[in-house]
Amino acid sequence: NKQVIFKAFVTGFPKESDMAIATSTIDLSLPPPDGAILIKNLYLSCDPYMRNRMSKTEGNYRESFTPGSPISGYGVAEVVESSNPNFKKGELIWGATNWEQYSLIKSLPPLGFSKIPHTDLPLSYYTGILGMPGVTAYFGFHDICSPKQGETVFVSAASGAVGQLVGQFAKLKGCYVVGSAGSSEKVDLLKTKFGFHDAFNYKEETDLNAALKRYFPDGIDIYFENVGGKMLDAVLLNMRIRGRIAACGMISQYNLESHEGVQNLFALITKRIRVEGFVAFDYFPQYQKFIDAVLPLIKQGEITYLEDIAEGIENAPGALIGLFHGRNVGKQVVALAH
Ligand code: NDP
Repeated sequence: NKQVIFKAFVTGFPKESDMAIATSTIDLSLPPPDGAILIKNLYLSCDPYMRNRMSKTEGNYRESFTPGSPISGYGVAEVVESSNPNFKKGELIWGATNWEQYSLIKSLPPLGFSKIPHTDLPLSYYTGILGMPGVTAYFGFHDICSPKQGETVFVSAASGAVGQLVGQFAKLKGCYVVGSAGSSEKVDLLKTKFGFHDAFNYKEETDLNAALKRYFPDGIDIYFENVGGKMLDAVLLNMRIRGRIAACGMISQYNLESHEGVQNLFALITKRIRVEGFVAFDYFPQYQKFIDAVLPLIKQGEITYLEDIAEGIENAPGALIGLFHGRNVGKQVVALAH
């Protein structure tokens, strides 16, 4: 049973060498102990919050990884054996699993596993559009941003797992939406595949304030915040009065020892901006509402979804650290067996 082991707490940018491929043994011929299930992991999800779990810091919304143990994260799996009345052999599930080929789940994780009834869509979607990033984009945009038709929306890290969906939800709502991303390939995708009205490469802009003024001459009503730092600062100058900011993530700060100072926070007051932080699992109890809204949109082709799939557990560490260099184009997934 191949695993990805977390070696030691990380400072700065994570490296592949912070993780190691190891082998453990699981006796597949023995039934799992009472209450436990044995699962075969099919897809692993690479998510930016996992960087925070690589540090031993206070204030994380998830506990730190344990050095010497496998990395844990969201994944899609098949139940291979079950001694738990709630799960049957052969069922497909998604939820918090470990970075290994097989996992013996003795106590179910606090947020449990959700069963996968829809096998007519790619199973990997449950690491993204139909999983945690999908919930984040859907509720983060509709609940936190309270969008209205005709409003202007700006999305950062816009081609990623969350951003590509926020942009499409904004368009479906009748908003004007612009995204930023870190390469011309991604900017192209935003405009051609995901239907953003416009997009720009933030790495090519020497003056982010001027760039935002170019795309939003009358200001921004809604900012879906994925990156923080200098971008947030420039956005604050360009927000409209009573704008809303969904504080979803701040990936530009995750690998810095001390965070870049925000200069323009006073705009929150002068412009009466509502900023609201949120965490995807606040909304997991409403998962059915999300599925009922989003599945028809996928099936009718009203929403599209791009994945970046690495093959094999050996490539999982590289896929994870690639998030912090923008190497992923779309949602980063690792396929173990499919
Ligand atoms: P993505 O699929 O967007 O992958 C991360 C992307 O971030 C990279 O591809 C890169 O794209 C961009 N990036 C990396 N470093 C920087 C930087 N220094 N400055 C600007 N952009 C950078 O990830 P997700 O869609 O899964 O996550 C997006 C954000 O949402 C993250 O901040 C994440 O922490 C947050 N999040 C929050 C959740 C919540 O519950 N609140 C749940 C899920 C995600 P590029 O090439 O464009 O730079």
